[in-house]
Amino acid sequence: MTLRGAEPVRRAVVLGAGIVGVLAALALQRRGFDVTMIDRDEPGRGCSYGNGGAISPDFCVPIALPGMLRRVPKWLFDREGPLVVRWRDLPASLPWLIRWIRAGRMDRVEAHARALRALHAPSYGRYRDILGPRAAGLIEMTGQLYVWRSAAAGPTEALARRLRERHGVETHALAGDEIRQMDGALATGFTRGLFFPENGHTLNPLRLVQTLARQIEEGGGRVLRGEASDIVLENGRAVGVRCSGTTLAGDIVVVAAGIASTAFARALGDRVPLQAERGYHVMLPEPGIRPRIKISNRDHMFGLTPMEHGVRIAGTVEIARPDAPMDERRPRAMLEVAKRMYPGLSDRGAAFWMGCRPSTPDSLPVIDRAARARNVIYAFGHGHTGLTGAPVTGELVAALATGERPHIDPAPFRRDRFG
Ligand SMILES: Cc1cc2nc3c(=O)[nH]c(=O)nc-3n(C[C@H](O)[C@H](O)[C@H](O)COP(=O)(O)OP(=O)(O)OC[C@H]3O[C@@H](n4cnc5c(N)ncnc54)[C@H](O)[C@@H]3O)c2cc1C
Repeated sequence: MTLRGAEPVRRAVVLGAGIVGVLAALALQRRGFDVTMIDRDEPGRGCSYGNGGAISPDFCVPIALPGMLRRVPKWLFDREGPLVVRWRDLPASLPWLIRWIRAGRMDRVEAHARALRALHAPSYGRYRDILGPRAAGLIEMTGQLYVWRSAAAGPTEALARRLRERHGVETHALAGDEIRQMDGALATGFTRGLFFPENGHTLNPLRLVQTLARQIEEGGGRVLRGEASDIVLENGRAVGVRCSGTTLAGDIVVVAAGIASTAFARALGDRVPLQAERGYHVMLPEPGIRPRIKISNRDHMFGLTPMEHGVRIAGTVEIARPDAPMDERRPRAMLEVAKRMYPGLSDRGAAFWMGCRPSTPDSLPVIDRAARARNVIYAFGHGHTGLTGAPVTGELVAALATGERPHIDPAPFRRDRFG
């Protein structure tokens, strides 16, 4: 603790400068904390770098749903399917996959959907408040479009619709010609569409994180580069984060290290099931055409986003070790399907990227205090929707740090919910 005038100023060290870390740091700074962020890289170069950019206040359907298991074998043998498992990593991933299947049970899905809705609904409003005028040109809330070629809705779609209705999500169902009216560059053959008017996207996920990181520095915080090795404890409390031989002192430590967070949690006695659901993107700097808004191909589970530096195709899930080599067949398969979606799409200068979604089995992040050190706060596990869930996560972290009453129920995000 340091003194600012007569007031003691509490110091917070935030480990990880991805979208979750920067928004936690800003929320703490707004409450008077002296904030230091530490990342091995420049801000936003982890999973937050390459995502699809979707900001989806209306996203409330968990990834694991009843009936999903029946679709998995077909996906696994489809080169262009949305899921692959790297067989040699299967033994290590199996316990997580079993939990994932259990999380898709009907009796749990409703609670997960409610928690996702609470976490996501205020997302854009928070971004707008935090960024102020900088939101212009960085975030566009012009809607999102889901499209299907398959004429008949599957059983999970019916459940997804019911969940959205229950949570008051506004959608508009579109037929083939209405889809083409919305996006004239799209190929024919898409028979069903769903428009989400309240959703949107960022034009550049990296610039978004770096803009927020700059705001932390403008507010007097520090954004440092270095490899954090462990959280230093004294008498059952964290006193800082050890990093490249020195200790960054803090009264509060926030673990927002994405997929690497479990190692820090494990050292504090907390075992959280976190799987790298690896995803890929293809960045097309000279795409020739642009989708009008963010569009998701729901048969193949990937999307195309119009960004300021081109069109980004992003998605697919690969269950594998975080450090396994990239498999270029995944982004190439997305690119092939995307070119069938948009016959005018050019792949000139295409660049591939892979990132690790830090995923829990139930699609909900962990936002909670550590068992052994109550001044360590976890903020990780945002899986497919970290960009969307990060603003409210920041608020919950700040509430845990200050003892103020959280404005949403924090119970679904407890670290010990996995038993
Ligand atoms: C292909 C793909 C598409 C996606 N699309 C979307 C989307 O459209 N919308 C959406 O909401 N979400 C999307 N996501 C998910 C989203 O990107 C993630 O949930 C989010 O980026 C997680 O943020 P994070 O801050 O927790 O992790 P990260 O961004 O990975 O940040 C963690 C940081 O911790 C640092 N770190 C880790 N260990 C250490 C250490 N020991 N010392 C120092 N630093 C360390 C890393 O360098 C990293 O910068 C997508 C993900 C993928 C892969």
